[in-house]
Parts: sequence; C-alpha cells; structure tokens
Amino acid sequence: MNQQGVPHCLLCHREEGVILPPIWTRTHEVVCPRCGHFFMSFEAVLSMQALTLPQKAPLMAVLREREILGLKPLTVTISTDYGIPQETFAKTIPEKVDRLLVNLSRLAPDAGNKYALDPERDFPLGHCTNRSGLEHVRDILVSSGWLERDKTDDSLHRLTLAGWARAGELQKGAIDSSTVFVAMSFKPEWDGAWKDGIRPALEEDCGYKALRVDAVEHTEDINDRIIAEIRRSKFMVADFSSNPGGVYLEAGFEMGLGRTVIWTCQDDDERKKALHFDISHYNFIFWKDPEDLRTRLRDRILALFGEGPRPKAVGDGGTDHG
Ligand SMILES: [Zn+2]
Repeated sequence: MNQQGVPHCLLCHREEGVILPPIWTRTHEVVCPRCGHFFMSFEAVLSMQALTLPQKAPLMAVLREREILGLKPLTVTISTDYGIPQETFAKTIPEKVDRLLVNLSRLAPDAGNKYALDPERDFPLGHCTNRSGLEHVRDILVSSGWLERDKTDDSLHRLTLAGWARAGELQKGAIDSSTVFVAMSFKPEWDGAWKDGIRPALEEDCGYKALRVDAVEHTEDINDRIIAEIRRSKFMVADFSSNPGGVYLEAGFEMGLGRTVIWTCQDDDERKKALHFDISHYNFIFWKDPEDLRTRLRDRILALFGEGPRPKAVGDGGTDHG
C-alpha cells in the first residue's frame, strides 16, 4: 500500500498492482499487470526505492516473461542481481524487436488472435524502459510486416504470417532467422557479384535479408560489430574470389558457431589456385558471372534452408552497412 492506501506494485509502483498481505513471512506477493506475478522480500522492497524505473526494467521484463511462460513466480531479494538472473534482458533495438514479437506470439497464441497492447502497461514485453520505447519497437514490427494493427481499434495487434514464421524461428534458437551475413570483398570489381548475384538471390529469390558489413581486408581482425552480426545471422554466404583475409576469418567464426557457410568463388584458375588448401575441399559454388552466381546460390539456399521469412524484395532492396 502507498500512503493513500491504494495497492500498487512494489517494483514499478503501478497502481493496479495487487499486493497480497504477507501471512507467515515478511515476503510480499505481488500480482502486477506490468511486472507479472512475483514475490519480494521486505529488504528488497526497501532497496528498490532507491532504483529508477530504467534500472528496474530488466527485472520487470524477466518477471513478466516468466508469467507469460507460466513459470513459477520468483522472489526478488537483495542478493546479487536481486536474486533474478537478468542476463537475458535485450539491450539492442533488434533484440527488443525480437523479444516483443515472441512475447506477442505467446500472448495471442492462435492465428488471428489479437492482443490489446498497452504501451504504458506492456513496455516490459519489448524489454523497454518506458512507453515511448515500446511504441518505437512496436512500430518497427509493424513496418517490417510482422505485426498488424486493427483498422478500427489500433490498440489491437496481431501477427502476420511472416511474423508467425519469424517468431517460430526465434524460439528455435537465438538467431535472426531473416538475416544472412555476406562475407566478401568490397572492392568495386566485385560490385556485380553483390548487386546482380548474391543480393538478389537472397532478397528477391529466397526471402532473406542480405547483410554486408565492410570488413577490414588487410588486418587480422574482425571487429565486435561484425562478430555481433555474424552471431545473429542464420547462415553465411562467403565469396572468396578476391581471397581477402577477412572473409576467411568471418567464415571460420561462423563455422565455430556450428552454422552453415555457403562457399562461393569466381570460376577462374588463378583464383581457385589461390584458395587456401584447408577450404578447397568444401562444396564451392564456382560461378562464371553474377547471373550464374545468383541462380546457383538460389538453388543451394532453397535446398539447404528453404524460403526465408521475409517478403521477397523487388529490385534494389539491399542492405549495406559499412
Ligand atoms: Zn509492477
């Protein structure tokens, strides 16, 4: 209870939070529309008062997700991390988008089901710290074609077919099922292989997003950004035509994660000879021109993975970061 005697959540202070009076112990039981169902020790109630809402957001997200999953309510204490493992809290916007999508798929678990999303109440569903954060993440889901809002009541949301496919993939493993990392040279002579070969094969023919991050070709280093993108991607297309060291490193990293690398190289004797012996026995696509690369890459991807979850891009929809 607060001073006015209105029940409010001991974690987020939302007034609809119901606190069940402690009977045997000094531990409070709370049922909050925002934070879910949990217990909190008397000492934790006191120490929570010093924390801001953003500081408490990871706890709120973890507790609310546990409720959605039907897991046993946990007790917030004053021990390390307040007794709740919070390392699953999403920190980047793409991760938050994924969390919100998966949580909505659990809250409205049948095709066509709608969920009345209230950003003020539901920001923990997107691992956000406030209402506007959740609205931003929701808008990304809508503009990506994974979520749609009801035309007459825009608080009602439901997943699209592509949204269901993505939510299913995300729950199978912590990967971004729609993105494929492309490791290749950024030199202008390979623009054709990218623009007319790899990118349209992925985006226009197969329904994946092709992500190319400019690798540093002449250093024995791949940066944190590239590692993060590789970790998230479903598989990798690695083109060794220009034999850059960065591509070897990136492909090796992907294989270390136990994921698939599709190996490509221009069909040219000199270039083939230049391949390191340790990869030359992989099942390379040796391509004659970008059109040939596009066709054969498409066939390989569809054979290995089937179609991706994204609406197929029409022309020039590529994503370049560099
Ligand atoms: Zn709460």
